[in-house]
Amino acid sequence: MKTSKFYISTLREAPSEAVIASHKLMLRAGITRKLGNGLYTYLPLGVRSLYKLENIIREEWNGTAEALEFKPTVIVPGDIWKESGRWETMGPQMLKAKNRGEQDMVVSPTAEEAFTAIVRDGLDSYKQLPVNLYQINTKYRDEIRPRYGVMRGREFIMADGYTMNADDESLDESYKLYEKAYFRIFKRLGLKIIPVRADSGAMGGSGSEEFMVESPIGDDTLIICPNEKCGYAANVEKAECAADESVNKNGEKPAKTDLAYEMVETPNVFSIEDMEKFFDESPKMFIKALIYRVINSSLDMTGATGADKWKRVSDPAGDYYPVSYACVLIRADLDVNEAKLAATLKASEVVLAEDEEVKEWAGAGHGFVGPMTSKCPLIVDWSVIKNNEAQMHDAIAGSGKDGYHVKHVEPLRDFVPYINADVRTAKEGDKCACCGSTFYTRKGNELGHIFKLGHKYTKSMHVTFLGQNGKPTEPTMGCYGIGVDRTLASIIETNCDDKGIIWPMSVAPFQVCIVPINYKGTMKEVADKIYDELTKAGIEVLLDDRNERPGVKFADMELIGIPLRITVGDKNLPNVEFKPRSAAEAELVPAENAAQKAIEYVKAELAKLSAE
Ligand SMILES: [Zn+2]
Repeated sequence: MKTSKFYISTLREAPSEAVIASHKLMLRAGITRKLGNGLYTYLPLGVRSLYKLENIIREEWNGTAEALEFKPTVIVPGDIWKESGRWETMGPQMLKAKNRGEQDMVVSPTAEEAFTAIVRDGLDSYKQLPVNLYQINTKYRDEIRPRYGVMRGREFIMADGYTMNADDESLDESYKLYEKAYFRIFKRLGLKIIPVRADSGAMGGSGSEEFMVESPIGDDTLIICPNEKCGYAANVEKAECAADESVNKNGEKPAKTDLAYEMVETPNVFSIEDMEKFFDESPKMFIKALIYRVINSSLDMTGATGADKWKRVSDPAGDYYPVSYACVLIRADLDVNEAKLAATLKASEVVLAEDEEVKEWAGAGHGFVGPMTSKCPLIVDWSVIKNNEAQMHDAIAGSGKDGYHVKHVEPLRDFVPYINADVRTAKEGDKCACCGSTFYTRKGNELGHIFKLGHKYTKSMHVTFLGQNGKPTEPTMGCYGIGVDRTLASIIETNCDDKGIIWPMSVAPFQVCIVPINYKGTMKEVADKIYDELTKAGIEVLLDDRNERPGVKFADMELIGIPLRITVGDKNLPNVEFKPRSAAEAELVPAENAAQKAIEYVKAELAKLSAE
């Protein structure tokens, strides 16, 4: 391809709304252009990389995952969403419209319903299972605040696979095939991926794994074990860590006390720091008590302290308390993880209570909340009690009376949990529960997710097949997604410098560019000859035949990020400059060898990204 026949549209400056590298570079290099808020058009240069990325996914899903491509419509009938129950629960992110026949329609945000409906209609016997289909298709989610370009756009491309399996064993097999395909895909894209396994019990499945990439603008915080053999990595919202013992200021394990707990007047002692000074003790000897307002808890707390005061609303999906309260007890040097706490309480949200609420439910102000005097249920972290054993002894806690603390507190003797659970925030420096190594943390972006859906959709949408025993049986399902645009943006995010993009060979829009200083005379002849040789060898070449200053051409090719540049100038002939985009310096090679050397370079770079 020659630039005169191609659509090169580079910008010197990125629009000010672009704040991350990939968004800036995609706009500057002419990969995408904004059409509306959260809506991006791929320009011809971007399409080349996008299709290469899609084809890598296709090859691995067709091959490794043993899947077949299908092509559902983007607009789907609202009826199938009503069947699954998600018509209501997807909320405003689902774009709905009525067609001229007044039928409800949906711009697909995801395709579980479409897959289930399509497979259901032809499914009779176990012999037809498993069904393993995928699509690479346009999706739409009406994000409130689209940002970071295609990283979080409204319209996006998703590769999503779905399997329908006869039983859990078959689902396990499908899941493992996809898992293997994911590792191969990201290897071929040159992305260093962090697999995060998470138990997704709440979603009715029995397994899920997220494929994350490190990113300073990531939506998720990851807790990572550095021990490669262990490989533990988890979202901070779920991460667990090893328990460390409560020790006093001398580093000794405290002994159980027989002394009854005792009030101590503590004027002007409000914070943990104040307590450290006043008691001359380590915070690992203090029990921190916090009152939380709990929103929409579906836990049945009948009989729990204070529960008679809360309104319980009946609902077909399960009764719940719109507002309730909980007193959380945790060792004072640790933090409460609100996501874990909300999950423990089956709540949509937990919020630290305001001063007046603390007074009402603790009888004292913040800082003096006590385990023995709480007027709402005690949620006790494993740092205080675990497996019915006290993890702290002879502790100091709030008294439930302003201006007083209590000492000689014995957990289990002086108070018992309403719920005993892990609600602590794991953080950098904590120890891995699996292997004991010290955690570090990183921000991460989710690029892919594999997920055992179980019977969620086959049940709600009434899918059955005749099993081997001749009885109607409900199949089980798995789903497997990759955010295509997001992955492309992540590749740029991790492969760029101050001059532009540095494409990995596997997804570069062109593999080699040839820049003649002036496209005329001998320079033209030499450039054309190298171009012909490379094209014949199947290499994707862009020849910059524009009548521009060399500086402009170099800057564009560097911005666009073509992995190898061959520069043809009078000054160096009969040699030409050979410069990989990632190399600091150019190398002079004889023009007659340049094509062969470039072919070898492209092959070697592709081999490095091979999944084999
Ligand atoms: Zn570990």
